[in-house]
Amino acid sequence: MEKDIEEQEEAQEEHYKTTSDLNVKHFSRYGEFLVSFELSKHGWNVYSPMYDEYIDIIAHKYACAKCGKSWAMTPSLICNKCHKDFSKTEKRNIKPIKICNKCKTRTEGSSTNCKKCDNKGVDNFTLIPTCDKCGGEVKLINYYCNCGSKEYKTKFRSIQVKSSRVEYIGEKSKNTYATDHKPRDMIISKDHFFIWCLIDDDDKPHFLVMSVQDFIKTMGNSMKGTSFLKDQDRQHFSSKDYGKWKRFENNFKALE
Ligand SMILES: [Zn+2]
Ligand SMILES: [Zn+2]
Ligand SMILES: [Zn+2]
Repeated sequence: MEKDIEEQEEAQEEHYKTTSDLNVKHFSRYGEFLVSFELSKHGWNVYSPMYDEYIDIIAHKYACAKCGKSWAMTPSLICNKCHKDFSKTEKRNIKPIKICNKCKTRTEGSSTNCKKCDNKGVDNFTLIPTCDKCGGEVKLINYYCNCGSKEYKTKFRSIQVKSSRVEYIGEKSKNTYATDHKPRDMIISKDHFFIWCLIDDDDKPHFLVMSVQDFIKTMGNSMKGTSFLKDQDRQHFSSKDYGKWKRFENNFKALE
């Protein structure tokens, strides 16, 4: 009989594995991964520091210096006459044209023997990747933005992630999350940010994104409290509306 109940319980447990089954260390890493993927959605390349010292993620992107749109670093294959773009799906339509350096005969294809004279070998031909539409030459052109800008800027951000699950007392939900920043986390750099990854009871993540200055301002007087200075401060806030932290929900534009 007892064995039956045990088996039932085991089967049930297997059905209901959630992030609450992760230990604290693994949960914290889980949050860092979720934040990383979320940053990718916003066009950031994400890097993980070799050592964990208050910075969990380095994020990086190239953006147009004028309009801020994402910037492609790789050059495009463009016809110099009609501007047809061959970079993505049209590569196979570039015609391999060769001009014999001796007799100037123009041939298409991969053969490196001149049909007219005895010239042979790839070095003795001028190769012209040619546009199938207008006969112009296809060239590698450095990217420029649709807004006309040829200038880009490089952005680097360092990020500390804090993850929290809904707090419970025994079986009873407190309907709160908690985070604990310490004085040593206050890296005073305009490129440093905190991202809080909050996992609700349906295992769904929510993100609060703030600069260090945002954090300090919102904390107000609690920053001066003894418990904060002694590393004992924990910010508890509503898991329904995030209390005073509400305005940082999905605030990824702060990183730009
Ligand atoms: Zn632009
Ligand atoms: Zn063309
Ligand atoms: Zn020839």
